[in-house]
Amino acid sequence: MRDPDPDCLFCRIVAGEIPSDRVYEDDEVICFRDINPQAPTHVLAIPRRHIPDARGLSNGDGPLLERLFGVLRDIADAEGLDGGYRMVTNVGPDAGQTVFHLHFHLLGGRSMRWPPG
Ligand code: AMP
Ligand code: ZN
Repeated sequence: MRDPDPDCLFCRIVAGEIPSDRVYEDDEVICFRDINPQAPTHVLAIPRRHIPDARGLSNGDGPLLERLFGVLRDIADAEGLDGGYRMVTNVGPDAGQTVFHLHFHLLGGRSMRWPPG
């Protein structure tokens, strides 16, 4: 695995080569608004490091996941999603993954249905 991957859209967003509407960033994580929002709040949280999907996580990535989930909680609070929200990560084409750099969707501001399609 190359890190970063020059062919990866989200690595290029991390590098600033492609603009994004960033709502948070630190040394490990960036969060930006989805370009095609599926809810009033639709934010993506990604590690700066290129990991293709959740299958690429290992035991040492516990602190990274803690950071990602904590940041999403803080964004949800800031967006006023007091009634709840959905966090989802698609793993592979059958799940609908289209960008192969690990990302967690934060969706909120409307009621969600279950099961997803
Ligand atoms: P997934 O289908 O789970 O891989 O999610 C990829 C998400 O990335 C989709 O919701 C897209 O709308 C979003 N996306 C694609 N290109 C961009 C971009 N340049 N900036 C922000 N979000 C993007
Ligand atoms: Zn990448």
